[in-house]
Amino acid sequence: MKTLLSNCNVIDVKNGCGILQKKDLYISDGKIQKITDHGTREIGFDAIDCTGKYVLPGLINMHVHLFGTGKPSKALGGGKAQKRLVAFINTKLGRFVLSKMVEKSAKQMLLSGVTTVRSVGDLCYSDISLKKKIQKNKGGARGLRLLVSGPAVTAPGGHGDGTFAISAQEPEELKKIVRNIVDEGADLIKICVTGGVMDAKKRGEPGEVKMTAEQVKAVCDEAHRLNKKVAAHVQSKNGVRIAALNGVDTIEHGATFDEESLAEIKNRSGAMILTYSPALPNALLSHEVTKLNELCMYNSKVVMEQMTLGAAQLEREGVKVGLGTDSSCPLCTQYNTWLELVYYCAQTGASSAQAIKKATLTNAEILGIDEITGSVEEGKSADLLIVNDNPLSDLKTLKNPFVVIAQGRVLKNPRPKRIRPVEEQLEKLAEVMQK
Ligand SMILES: [Zn+2]
Repeated sequence: MKTLLSNCNVIDVKNGCGILQKKDLYISDGKIQKITDHGTREIGFDAIDCTGKYVLPGLINMHVHLFGTGKPSKALGGGKAQKRLVAFINTKLGRFVLSKMVEKSAKQMLLSGVTTVRSVGDLCYSDISLKKKIQKNKGGARGLRLLVSGPAVTAPGGHGDGTFAISAQEPEELKKIVRNIVDEGADLIKICVTGGVMDAKKRGEPGEVKMTAEQVKAVCDEAHRLNKKVAAHVQSKNGVRIAALNGVDTIEHGATFDEESLAEIKNRSGAMILTYSPALPNALLSHEVTKLNELCMYNSKVVMEQMTLGAAQLEREGVKVGLGTDSSCPLCTQYNTWLELVYYCAQTGASSAQAIKKATLTNAEILGIDEITGSVEEGKSADLLIVNDNPLSDLKTLKNPFVVIAQGRVLKNPRPKRIRPVEEQLEKLAEVMQK
């Protein structure tokens, strides 16, 4: 497929998100072949008139679970409903339903302008199977660049144990789990060092430490030996310390850092991935909407504040901070990545330009794929999001893309399927945040 994006405004994320006006973009073989001033015309290209439109790199979502929709559900909170669901997923029919579900989620991501997704904990290797399908150029998520972790790894009783995580006590057993996951085709290893908001027991302590230093080190050593990076779910300062001092590459969600942890993560060229999308709605909306109890809501607020403080510490030291959504969590849909940018600006005082750069080039740098994607440049993969208005003046235009292009595959008039009751709540919240 050969495509010409004619007469567009290009957002140059490499240079302060400056706007290059009246450009023509020639796309073939999945790549941006040429960017010229508007007016040239080569034959054989299917032209899309982009007069007045803005072209930016496709968004990169660093923290995704593909198994859910983001609709609040009791099954996410544990208990009997969750047990029944897990039992179902382990049947043949359940696996089939799961594979469809995961593919649908990935498609929603694409339709919402996300062209690269890093999955960090999915059930039954369903994310890895989907990646293999996409690599064969099959199914509704064709074109999506997917980096996959397979199931997460934790200690018995850790976050996600029995659902999206596999657990073991002994370091040698943990290493064996890592080898198996890598054998299945994982690009990275995800671990859960601390508990989360949904399984916290104490008010003010969402990130109770669940893995020992020895366990974390065993996983990281084995993953690094196999050339894989380790992403760790961490939601407390103690958890950050154990993760940072024992080899973790990216701290997911995050909290504040002590001096030694900060130095370690900096030395390792590590990063932290902010995920405001679950924390913020769950802290600020009523429990009738979130279906969470008071403890969860209080702890969501703690997470939100701690991750903001941690990110500020890292950025002062020049350590990279990326953005993800934690989609599948309550109120974290597969199609609202743009809201993470809005929340990030509201919580940190960053500009729209800084948020866009983070969700594209910075995320690509953290993944080590910035030579391939993350900016609109000749020679890079044609991973593009085209919107109707200038996103630097209003991020809301990202919500309804004009066209999405993923590795050259053109999706015209992309319309993700929105979950209406969730949308109504998030809309209100976004309005408050943008004031
Ligand atoms: Zn997560």
